[in-house]
Amino acid sequence: MNKSQLQQHDREHLLHPFTDFHDLGNQGTRVITSAEGAYITDIDGHKMLDGMSGLWCCNLGYSRREISEAIYEQLNKLPFYNSFFQCTTVPSIELADMLAEVTPAGMNNVFFTGSGSEANDTNLRIIRRYWDLKEQPEKRIVISRKNAYHGSTIGGASLGGMSGMHKQFQSLDYIEHIQQPYWFGEGGDMSPEEFGVHAARCLDEKIQELGPEKVAAFIAEPIQGAGGVIIPPETYWPEIKKILDQYDILLVMDEVIFGFGRTGEWFGADYYGMKPDLMTFAKAVTNGYFPLGGTMVSDRVAEVIKSKGGEFTHGYTYSAHPAACMAGIATLNILREEKIIETVRDTTGPYLAKRWAELADHPIVGEARTLGLVGALELVKDKNSRARFDDDCTAGGVCRDMSIKNGLVMRATGDTMIIAPPLILTIEQIDELVEKAHRALDDTARAMA
Ligand SMILES: *Cc1c(COP(=O)(O)O)cnc(C)c1O
Repeated sequence: MNKSQLQQHDREHLLHPFTDFHDLGNQGTRVITSAEGAYITDIDGHKMLDGMSGLWCCNLGYSRREISEAIYEQLNKLPFYNSFFQCTTVPSIELADMLAEVTPAGMNNVFFTGSGSEANDTNLRIIRRYWDLKEQPEKRIVISRKNAYHGSTIGGASLGGMSGMHKQFQSLDYIEHIQQPYWFGEGGDMSPEEFGVHAARCLDEKIQELGPEKVAAFIAEPIQGAGGVIIPPETYWPEIKKILDQYDILLVMDEVIFGFGRTGEWFGADYYGMKPDLMTFAKAVTNGYFPLGGTMVSDRVAEVIKSKGGEFTHGYTYSAHPAACMAGIATLNILREEKIIETVRDTTGPYLAKRWAELADHPIVGEARTLGLVGALELVKDKNSRARFDDDCTAGGVCRDMSIKNGLVMRATGDTMIIAPPLILTIEQIDELVEKAHRALDDTARAMA
């Protein structure tokens, strides 16, 4: 099929995730046909630096045969067997061992799922099971944050705080949302430090309002990813830590984006010095080569759910899929052997920070922020008042299209442009990324004038 035929069949038969079907019908899809290293190529032969690592997944880029070969060999040896009913497979045991090693101290058990959304559903099941076994069944409420993203199953979407999603389904009734630590958008006249404490105190207020004896857990991404790469002020996590220490409430850190090196540490919890009770992972654990997710379970929780009898009536057919686990093992081996995370921490992260900060001088950029290998640009009409161009976030969409035209995949979340490029990016490729982003900003400024 040629390009227009592909687009036509796509329109007729494929319902895409997070897509306006009407717009898609009119404009047609971009057909991506190949990829190499940090670049993807579409059906027209247009090559782009992939500033989003696929969908925050392909942290090692697209050319890792070690991973595809590990999957292939496993598929030929034992393509599938389940982990239900006291069965297991060798790759699942090996990956569980490795995960216990690389995750924070005190996390030594894993429950595998097929995705991040499923893993957050698993978290809800584990949280309830934990408090039931502790004979505190009244602890039921889970507190999350507005504009959080925790996946798209009913459980994941209920935990998430995206208003556009909540309009289209009925949320679980035991989940509450508090303010997000988004200084640029919501900090007003407060300094970032003041606002960080303020946003954290919202958790304390909510716990008081609900009654600590009713609150089971607090869930948060270390840094909000899909919400717009919202890096909390430095005062935020220490204050949250203080509050959680005060009450008997579980902490779930959703590391689906920030796990496996994005911050320059293995996990966001390491970066912020947090001790989560549960930790969601997915995406980059297999470098995007095979669907796999899971939740790391702390010793505190694992001891309760393992030592008390009774079946945990939960699991997925593809929990601990052997080929997925082989993809995970191969990915972790590369991360370790090639010191990818150390390079992000010591070399490429600081270099991106320096180069990206230059974009803050652009007339339509209100803030340029990075941490490790993620970054965001706030597009504004007026730098001083932080005023946006319009209420419909037109600038973000325009900038995304201009960026793609200039050979760089950036994503728009409203009028916030975000990047999360592969962790294997070289210094030269960071220069290329920043130059292309700069050109996209110039083109956007012209288009919006
Ligand atoms: C992507 C994402 C999820 C959902 O993962 P899926 O594999 O798409 O189900 C959950 N949490 C966060 C923070 C994510 O970024």
